Amino acid sequence: MVTVTVWNEFRHERENDDAREQYPDGIHEVIAGFLDERGFDTRTATLDEPEHGLTEEVLDDTDVLTWWGHIAHDEVDDEVVDRVQERVLDGMGLLALHSAHYSKVFKRLMGTSCSLKWREDEERERLWVVEPGHPITEGVDEYIELPESEMYGERFDVPAPDTLVFTSWFEGGEVFRSGCCFRRGAGKVFYFRPGHETYPVYYEPEIQQVLANAVEWAAPTGGPDPEFGERDPLEPLD
Ligand code: ZN
Repeated sequence: MVTVTVWNEFRHERENDDAREQYPDGIHEVIAGFLDERGFDTRTATLDEPEHGLTEEVLDDTDVLTWWGHIAHDEVDDEVVDRVQERVLDGMGLLALHSAHYSKVFKRLMGTSCSLKWREDEERERLWVVEPGHPITEGVDEYIELPESEMYGERFDVPAPDTLVFTSWFEGGEVFRSGCCFRRGAGKVFYFRPGHETYPVYYEPEIQQVLANAVEWAAPTGGPDPEFGERDPLEPLD
């Protein structure tokens, strides 16, 4: 069974009325809830727990880590960032959600600024599936429509994704690469754009479906450990 750790900064939901109304127990509880219902072995971790809830022990028992943060990226300890990065390179999957584009963990793995344009004006968003048949899009039609979204616009300063799965259109005219797959070492990373703290995005069945698909996709698949360094030839050389 795939083991998922759902990480959340968990600040907006405690400090902001609109966010608390949408996610009274925190975004992490909603995400963990629907992943649990879909058969994943799920736990949560939050910023204010010791070591942000991401001890060696927890990460050693995590196949896929999902990350939601926004206002407190700077409070994430660099030691924990190192640990997460190392685990991803070793094969742990990572789902970076919405404003996690600016998280230390995602920026570290991308190596770029991860900056973008944004606007909070309750706009319609259409996420177009641009890679039909990709495992992350299973069960999704040609597009997902969200009636109220925060706009994220290009340029999104990330390295070109290995596979682009969703491209968003926004009512105000911008577009955005909303579903991006990357590989870092042995680990798979998926960035997924929707999910602002004051919109009910994580209650949308299609969004839940995409995230469940992404967990399956990002879970480690094993394989032989690669060997590095100088080696003898397999056949005799003259
Ligand atoms: Zn947002």
